[in-house]
Amino acid sequence: MLKNKFRFVTLHTKTAFLFAVGLAGIIFSSLFLTRYFFLFSLNELENIEIHKASSQASFVIRSLSSRQETASYDWAYWNESYDLLAKQDDGFAERNLHVDELDVLGLDFISYLTPDRRFQVGVGRDIEDIESFTTTVINDEGIAHHLIDMQSKLSANKTSISGLIRLDDDIWVVSVSPVRDGAADAPFAGWMIWGQHLSLRFPSAFEGILTASNSIIVDQEEMARLDFHSYDLNSDREHDSGVKRSKSELYHYTSLTDISGKVIAVLETKEPRTYYQKGEAVFYYLIIAIAVVASIVACITFVLFRNNIGKRFNYFEQDIKSLISSSDVDLEGHKDEFERITKLVQSLAHASSKTEGQLKDTLQKFEALYHSQSLGMVLVVEKMIVDVNQMLLDLLGYQREDLVGNNIEILCSHEAGDLCSADQLYINLAQGLRQFEAWLSNKEGDTVYCIIEATQFEQDGRISVMLSIKDISEQKQQAVLIDSLTHKDASTGLLNRPTVINLFKSYFQHSSEGDGFSLLYFNATRLKEIDEIYGHVAHDDVLKHFAECLLRNFGDQSVGRISENEFLVWDEEKNYVHLEEMANRVLEKYSSKMHVSGFEFDIGLKSALVPSSSHFDSFENFSYVGLYALTEIKAASKKGLVIVDEELKVRSKESLSLNRDIMLALKNNEIVPFYQPIVNASNGQVVGFEALARWKHPSLGMIPPGVFIPLAEQRRLIVELGESILDQACQFIKEIQQKSTSSSQNRLSIHVNLSSPHFNHKSLVETLTKMIKKYQLTQGQLVLELTESILLGSEEEIIDRMDVIKSLGVQLALDDFGTGYSSFSSLCNFPLDIIKLDKSYIDALETNDKAKSLVRNIIHMSQELGMTTVAEGVENASQLRKLNVWNVDEVQGYYFFKPMDKESALEKFAR
Ligand code: C2E
Ligand code: CA
Ligand code: CA
Repeated sequence: MLKNKFRFVTLHTKTAFLFAVGLAGIIFSSLFLTRYFFLFSLNELENIEIHKASSQASFVIRSLSSRQETASYDWAYWNESYDLLAKQDDGFAERNLHVDELDVLGLDFISYLTPDRRFQVGVGRDIEDIESFTTTVINDEGIAHHLIDMQSKLSANKTSISGLIRLDDDIWVVSVSPVRDGAADAPFAGWMIWGQHLSLRFPSAFEGILTASNSIIVDQEEMARLDFHSYDLNSDREHDSGVKRSKSELYHYTSLTDISGKVIAVLETKEPRTYYQKGEAVFYYLIIAIAVVASIVACITFVLFRNNIGKRFNYFEQDIKSLISSSDVDLEGHKDEFERITKLVQSLAHASSKTEGQLKDTLQKFEALYHSQSLGMVLVVEKMIVDVNQMLLDLLGYQREDLVGNNIEILCSHEAGDLCSADQLYINLAQGLRQFEAWLSNKEGDTVYCIIEATQFEQDGRISVMLSIKDISEQKQQAVLIDSLTHKDASTGLLNRPTVINLFKSYFQHSSEGDGFSLLYFNATRLKEIDEIYGHVAHDDVLKHFAECLLRNFGDQSVGRISENEFLVWDEEKNYVHLEEMANRVLEKYSSKMHVSGFEFDIGLKSALVPSSSHFDSFENFSYVGLYALTEIKAASKKGLVIVDEELKVRSKESLSLNRDIMLALKNNEIVPFYQPIVNASNGQVVGFEALARWKHPSLGMIPPGVFIPLAEQRRLIVELGESILDQACQFIKEIQQKSTSSSQNRLSIHVNLSSPHFNHKSLVETLTKMIKKYQLTQGQLVLELTESILLGSEEEIIDRMDVIKSLGVQLALDDFGTGYSSFSSLCNFPLDIIKLDKSYIDALETNDKAKSLVRNIIHMSQELGMTTVAEGVENASQLRKLNVWNVDEVQGYYFFKPMDKESALEKFAR
């Protein structure tokens, strides 16, 4: 936790802190070292002192003993002493041996012994029985040993001895000297023993000269506890002794030995530790003082460091931080700035070596670009041309010296005006536009259309621009060409369908209520026929001729070709009278045969005028109304122009919506056949049915085939529709056959209408085969009704195809006979089984004699050729009577039955 916190302390604080701590550390450690050596020295000093004091005390005791021995010689060689022992002088004791004398000599006892070590006389201070005391003294091991030792020696060789002895708990300084006469020529007379009671006199008697306090320890137990070094009183050898320390005192122990060398007591020297204590106290003050000073110094260092040197660190840190944040190197997990910067430098070093490689690469590419064979390059520094490449010189025909050093304006074409000025260039750059087109001028002053790409950069503090220039004159020309190709119809030069659609789209988007325009729709209905009959060349010539006529009359911006044979002319004038006049003029010219390349052609031109676009919202609606209006022309057999009124618009819209729905209708089985019975003309018996398609539209109700069959043809759905009707019709006839009680010889036939595309479709034969098999149709039971239009084209091929169909056992009927253009004789060439007389002939029977004889002859001839005749649209008995007279085979019409749905038919006829 703390460690983590420390991690986020900034580098300069951290550094200052460490620096200050280091400094304080140095101060304190040196202080403690000093203290150690100082106190160590004090200890040494104390040691020396206590040694000195101890040796002084020892010396005092030693000198006590030696001085006593030396002093005793006077008395030992004194005649009186001699006389005392040698001549038994009893007065001696009276004269010399009393306590005053002891005081003078500084002794505590004096005793004389005979040579055989018997007590002679003596005196002692505070000693009751001097004789027994003396006996004790001379029984001391050391003294006894000396005396016995001296016994064997000649009198002249007897020597004195002095030293310490212990008597009970008292220590005595004792000297034993041989007694002789003053001339030293008499023999040895005995021994004189002097003694001082050391325990009494030491150290009290010597306090004036002893530097330390001393005491003599005699307690055996205490002595045994002490760690002392023996000190031989008889030698001058220095012994190092153990120094004992308490907090306030220093102790030194020296052993005291008796004459025989046995330790009898310990001299304790004691000194207060004044130096040490004072020294230590001084040191405490010193430590406190230095600690305060060191802390202050550390603080000052910290602050100064942090504020002055640290400031630089601060900048350094910030720079590092920004460097780190600008780099994408991952530096998480690196503790401090130094680690991070190290990592960063490593990755930068790596990147820079990479960048260097890339730079080299770029340079090479740039070099290649500059010497490009396709791009002209110009280096401009502050509007001045500084360098150009060869390609540019080639492009504009200049020499290098013509351009270098000149203002960039020199390259601008006069035609361009402001578009190519140097100012414009910089404005473009400032707006972030880096690519633009410009007219440049070559040396001859001709305009060259170019595309310029400009790259701005700074060179030595000056704004430089590198222009790469490409000549696009050719592309421009191509663009114009492509534009015309994409917008115009290749064979007529009129605007093509996509262009017209786009144009109208924008018209509809931008026009508001009321400002509509008028539309003229042309349909060259027989253009396709011309192509089929006369070939492509004639077709194209006729097409061009017609297109030129439109262009002449209406101008090239308002005429378009929207399909093979549909053309549109539009006019923004609200008054359409002008358009109507023009339309009539064109129609007039093309209504009759038109002459092209010496031939006569009828293009079947029809036109519709839509007075206002205001109620249309899409091009599809708008153009469809024209096409739809033409059905009016056909229905009313009008020639020429229809003016589209509101009602027509509504119907057109409906038709269009049907057009959209028809595909779905087929899928959803909304288109079903109704069945109209065909009866035997003579006895009225039903011999078969014709399947007639009906569209049960979910919202518009029942829709007649006259409306949706053409739609299906346009949408290429007619084959699918035909197959669906065929299937349903065949199924119907099978069902009715199964339910019918009539004998199998009287098989009912089923007539199915076949469109031209379906007849020509490759799948037809296969489909028929399948149906016959599936519904077990008998020979001739299925009848296909064909119209005359099917018979257009190669007769041979059609006949072949008919033969194939017939070979399956299918009969062929010619529907609507009499409405087409083919002659009856030509029909004889086709292998037809049934002829269906069109309703228009039957209608005419009542009123038109010509029609009567025509019908009569047709029936007659057909029978001659072995074909069955069927009269369509019989509505009354009079018609039937006539037809019966002429021996028509079968009739079909409302007089007998209207077309009915499957259920009604089954109910009525399946018996
Ligand atoms: P169509 O083949 O000539 O069919 C005869 C038309 O006359 C039928 O009209 C029928 O309802 C009508 N009609 C029959 N008897 C009388 C009558 O006594 N008086 C009057 N006024 N009309 C009568 P519908 O059903 O409207 O069919 C029109 C045309 O649609 C058919 O003419 C046929 O060319 C075509 N069509 C009908 N169904 C199909 C089909 O499934 N496939 C193809 N390709 N065309 C079909
Ligand atoms: Ca028919
Ligand atoms: Ca018909």
